[in-house]
Amino acid sequence: MASPNSHLNWPSVAGIISDLDGVLYRGDAAIVDAIEAFARWQVVGLPFCFVTNNSTLTPEDVVRKLEAFGLAIAPNEVVTSAIAAAELARAKYPDASRVYVIGAPSLANAVATVGLDVTDQEPEIVMMGLDRGITHEKMRIAVEAILNGAAFIGTNPDLLLPTADGFEPGAGATISAVAAATQVKPLIVGKPEPHMIKTALSRLGTERSATLMIGDQIATDIQAGKRAGLPTVLVTTGVPPRENPALARPDFIVSSLAEIEIPILAGSPRQRRA
Ligand SMILES: [Mg+2]
Repeated sequence: MASPNSHLNWPSVAGIISDLDGVLYRGDAAIVDAIEAFARWQVVGLPFCFVTNNSTLTPEDVVRKLEAFGLAIAPNEVVTSAIAAAELARAKYPDASRVYVIGAPSLANAVATVGLDVTDQEPEIVMMGLDRGITHEKMRIAVEAILNGAAFIGTNPDLLLPTADGFEPGAGATISAVAAATQVKPLIVGKPEPHMIKTALSRLGTERSATLMIGDQIATDIQAGKRAGLPTVLVTTGVPPRENPALARPDFIVSSLAEIEIPILAGSPRQRRA
């Protein structure tokens, strides 16, 4: 683990990209220091964007949750893996129009919002996220489409999700099952891959080197930030970090977002509530 260096050499910052769970809240409990830090940054006009691997949330769900904690944000200040996956599908396969979706309503909505048809008829893309109503029939349709040449996109690689009582399989577990059946490697969108960070960065319109990536997990948040070329901040309020020498280390480690004393660049590129 790199030594904490929270009070030294903060880069000039024009924008912030941040994880949610473990940074702004733990389950249903707010992390007050973090809520207050974002409220302060909002007042000074520092643009930020939240990113989450959870494809079952809509941006409006996140807006409501943060509003209850006293932080009022706009839906376009949230990028979920569902939204990033839909935008990536649109950009990477401009000629495709038919998408078979296994996932929550939020994923189908995100796909429809970018102008793609959600259908099980001759899909050109299979898009998989967490679907708590997944069936063998849905997986059969996905497998058949992929074997017939459809592109294969997964929202996020999380294998195991914590619940109130224990654990449940994450999207990555069922995506892996379809990958095993077809022997086709999916394009994974969520952290630790950089796609969602790049989507957030394009919303902020800020330079990579002047945009902080904040997260509570080295294996996902920090790797995604590094791969997207951003300075990274690990906040130790969430999942306790595990030593893994193979993973890139965060540039900064803080125990609270209150420790972040960033010189804010003048003239932020866009207004807060665009
Ligand atoms: Mg987290």
